[in-house]
Amino acid sequence: MLNCPACNKPTISKGQKFFTGPLGHFCCPDCGAEVSVSWYSSLSMVVFLAILAGVSQHASTTMRIVTYVLGVAAYMTIHMLVVPLVAKKP
Ligand SMILES: [Zn+2]
Repeated sequence: MLNCPACNKPTISKGQKFFTGPLGHFCCPDCGAEVSVSWYSSLSMVVFLAILAGVSQHASTTMRIVTYVLGVAAYMTIHMLVVPLVAKKP
């Protein structure tokens, strides 16, 4: 469980964070604060797109699939480990 940025209690599941973007939010079950992820999550998408753009147009299908999987893994890792949760102001 992750700590709520408003009440600092471990009430946020990793799944809630994973499926939330900077425009979405969910409510903390303890304090009711609206919780979202920082806009930094958009930067993790930039990393993903940069990895995809780095693949040559002449790369093999296998290389493209491997690169796509690595890009998704990098995006998920950055989103879950680096992007902070934020409490939205009312
Ligand atoms: Zn809370």
